[in-house]
Amino acid sequence: MNDCLFCKIIKGEIPSSEVFSNENVYAFKDLHPMAKIHNLFIHREHSHDINAMSKTSPEQVVDVYKAILKWTQDEKLDSSGFRVVTNCGPDAGQTVFHTHFHVLAGEKLGRFGK
Ligand code: AMP
Ligand code: ZN
Repeated sequence: MNDCLFCKIIKGEIPSSEVFSNENVYAFKDLHPMAKIHNLFIHREHSHDINAMSKTSPEQVVDVYKAILKWTQDEKLDSSGFRVVTNCGPDAGQTVFHTHFHVLAGEKLGRFGK
């Protein structure tokens, strides 16, 4: 999508700090980290949010979670643990409308909620 920030990151038109890449998925460091490790995993195909992705292309959800599996294993985070968050819509505070999965790790995380 032409006017999408994360599509521009995938195309290399906006710089990012890559942490993972394969034919389906790209992952990069969040600009404003909320934990010692805070990366964003995105599918190379544009979708608006997790429900749009799950409705039209559920296989993309699997692509992203397989990428997270590979990356967390490579980084030895599967034993220490990590959190995956995807914000959907206004009440969740979604600000970028290209489906993305926050992966938080590297320290003991607080409980989430309000
Ligand atoms: P959300 O609020 O769930 O839509 O998440 C959007 C995330 O994108 C936020 O955590 C931002 O810090 C992050 N973000 C926005 N622009 C960039 C960028 N150019 N590079 C990396 N992360 C970004
Ligand atoms: Zn996009």
